[in-house]
Order: sequence, then structure tokens, then C-alpha cells
Amino acid sequence: MKTSPQPYKIKSVEPINLLSREQRYAALERVGFNPFLLKSEEVFIDLLTDSGTGAMSQNQWAAIMVGDESYAGSTSFYNLESAVADIFNYKYTIPVHQGRGAEKILFPVLIDKMRRERGGKEPVFISNYHFDTTAAHVELSGAKAINVVVEEAYALNEHFDWKGNFDLTKLIGYIELHGPENVAAIIITVTCNSMGGQPVSLDNIKAVHDIAKEFDIPVVMDAARFAENAYFIKQRDEHYVDHEISEIVKEMFQYADMFTMSAKKDAMVNIGGLCCFKGDEDLYREAQVHCIPMEGFATYGGMSGRDIEALTVGLYEAMDYNYLSTRISQVDRLAQKLANAGIPVQTPTGGHAVFIDARAFLPHLSVGEFPGHALANALYLEAGIRSAEIGSLLLGRDPVTGIQKSSPTELLRLAIPRRTYTNEHMDYVAENLIELKKKKSSIPGYRFTYEPLVLRHFLAQFEPVIKVS
Ligand SMILES: *Cc1c(COP(=O)(O)O)cnc(C)c1O
Repeated sequence: MKTSPQPYKIKSVEPINLLSREQRYAALERVGFNPFLLKSEEVFIDLLTDSGTGAMSQNQWAAIMVGDESYAGSTSFYNLESAVADIFNYKYTIPVHQGRGAEKILFPVLIDKMRRERGGKEPVFISNYHFDTTAAHVELSGAKAINVVVEEAYALNEHFDWKGNFDLTKLIGYIELHGPENVAAIIITVTCNSMGGQPVSLDNIKAVHDIAKEFDIPVVMDAARFAENAYFIKQRDEHYVDHEISEIVKEMFQYADMFTMSAKKDAMVNIGGLCCFKGDEDLYREAQVHCIPMEGFATYGGMSGRDIEALTVGLYEAMDYNYLSTRISQVDRLAQKLANAGIPVQTPTGGHAVFIDARAFLPHLSVGEFPGHALANALYLEAGIRSAEIGSLLLGRDPVTGIQKSSPTELLRLAIPRRTYTNEHMDYVAENLIELKKKKSSIPGYRFTYEPLVLRHFLAQFEPVIKVS
């Protein structure tokens, strides 16, 4: 296959350092075998998340110098508002400090509107799959979060182009079960982060929109990876091969009424977010009112003028076809190298991360020994690479019964920051996983020495389970 080099060269570098094996062991032991608690300087290649970890371009850095830091009505805000109108065809923009800021100001407003206009009493939100902060804000606002992603999404190694799609029959089923008046909104997450950055097809987006309109339910796009989703549509839907990414984006967003966005993903800023409305002025006004005490005045929403300028540039850069193509192929290239070496990975590869089936990779470990977490620790000890478990550890216990919830999969996620690492870095990741495969039966499981009650994976501490045979 011909190589397709990244469409940029390196102007500024940030040194990274690989500690010795002894130092890595000492560091991991010090933090109770939880890579989340490592200092970043103890990490060589950091694949913990793609959120806010991308590299900004020279144009983004240049835009920072023209940021207008006026408290109200800054030029930077109006530039952003024009960009949102241009790219998404949405009239109203509220900047927020990051994606969860948008969720926090929007969801209570949607619930109020539902009660007022449709007489609902028991609010639910239905999504292909709620991202974890999204589900948290749904619940904090007193509603229930329901996920209706297609069954195919759970078959890790079976190919399906649209593993982010809604199961439309389930969607209608849940609307009827709860009553349309109780559905505060339908949330379309593009790409579907929790299912591995898997895309949602345009047909599916349109069908969800049509169902929503039939029942008079608002549609929210959770838009963190809007450009990556558009890229997949161009690749996989023959109807769109000749469309520009920007045209696909416009079409996707025409089928929603508003969007929340973590700009730390596709928009390639280190911090920032958006809450935007296609045309519903009343809802926009109400969200603005919530923004002021939570995020800040409605033209800055917790962001500095300079960060808003960088975001505006990032929204356009996210849609550059050559960039997207090398971005998505870098992720896929790593997955293919692992697959070719017999390491079980999710297929097809999603947009922002490679997922390893840790249960299949480490069959000697029980689910209770957290195979995904065990593999994350082994990879750090082997090569200084940080990654994250997506499985039972993350899922946690039922808050009422205290029983471990049962996770359909035990995964290790290698999230790839945008424009940050070269393909050589990725080769190093692949080589070390292949090396680990040779000695995998010696990789220990883990048990808690400290288990926090909520969101335990961030702060928990562990010890290896040493088996004497
Ligand atoms: C990251 C993310 C969020 C939350 O955004 P933050 O910027 O981390 O607050 C919400 N939804 C999706 C799909 C995300 O990927």
C-alpha cells in the first residue's frame, strides 16, 4: 500500500522521556497500580485519552494572539458565532468551558420545556449511547438515560460499517413505553464514543430525526467527533463519496435541533466546548440564563477570548480531508498491525482509538481480576505507554445493591491524540504489545486495596494478584 504522509511538518517539539524498567515499576507501585495517578512525566507515550491532548496548528496559535478578552460581546465570540452559522447552519451559539458544561446548562432547560409544553412528568433521554458525563448530567437533572445502539455494536470482531447506529425499533419501543411526552430529547452521539468511536450513518441520523419529529421530541447532536463521523460517511456510504466533508457535516446537522460539543476532540483545542441551536430562540435564551451562573457570561462561557479564537480555527481544520484521512488511517494502521500479529482488536476500527479485547488476550484472568486494567499496567511496565481500561472497572457497582455490574466486554483502549504522535510512535506501541503477547500468561490480575464509591476507576488503588501454583 502507498504511504500517505501527514499533511503537516513539525515546527515545535515537546520532549518525552522513557524511564528505566525499575523506575516504571517504582512509579506504578507508588500510585497503587493505577496509571491514572501517574505523573505525565513518568509516561513515554500517553494514549489515555484523545481529549484536549491534540496538537494545535500554527494558525490556531496565531489566532490566540488576536483573542479579544472583553468580558462581554468580544470579537472572538462573534467570529465563533459566524463560524458555527457557516459550518453547521445554526443560528445561536453559546461557548462553554467543555462538553459537560453544555450538558449541564442544556438538559434542565429541555426537561422544563418538556414539562411545560408536552406535560411529561418522568423525563428520559434516549441515545444511541450516552457518553459517561452525558449520562451523569441526564441523571443529575433528574432524568433517566436509555441507550439503544444496534446489536451489531457488541460483536467486537464482526464487521459492520455503522456500529454507532440507533436500533430504530428499540427507539420507537422506548418512546412508546415511556410515552413521547416524557422523552426530553433524543441524543445522537457522533461518533459513538462509548462504542469505540464508531460512526452513525446519515440514513440512520435522518431516520432518528423523522421519528423524533413524528413524536414531537427535540433532537440533540452530541458532536465531539462530528468531522470524523462525516469522514466515515464519505468512506462508507456510496451516495456521499463525491461530497465534501463540509457538505456532509451540514447535512448531518440539518437533522438535529441543537448540539452540544466537547471542542477538545475534533476541534483540536486543549479546552473548550459549544452549546448551539439551529433556530429555537426561546430555548437558546433559557440556556443562556443557565450559562451565566454556571459557566460565565453568555459570550465567553468559561473560555478566554484566545481559546475561542483557537476553537474557531480548529472547527475548520477538523474538516480538512487530507488531515482526516491520515488521522483515521493512523488509528487503523495500529489496529491492523496488532490484528496481523494475532492480537484481538475491535473491527472495524473506530475514529479515535484502538480497542483490544483484553478478555480474549488474557484468558487466564477472571473478569473480577480486571483484564483490561491488568493489560494497561503490563503495557506501562513494558514500554512506558499509558492506556485505559474500558470494562468492569469503569462500569462499577450497582449503587443500590453494591453488586458489580456485568460488562459486556473487557477492553483496553489506546486513544490516539490528534496530530501528536508519528507513525513510528505507533509502531513502538504495536511492537511492545506483540512482545507482551509472548509473555502474556505471566501478566497478573489486580484486586482493590482502595475502592472509592463513585467513579472508582480514577482514584482506586490495587495490588497484583499473585497466584502460587
Ligand atoms: C468528551 C465527550 C463529552 C464530554 O466532553 P468534555 O469536554 O470532556 O466535558 C461528551 N460527549 C462525548 C461524545 C465526548 O466524547
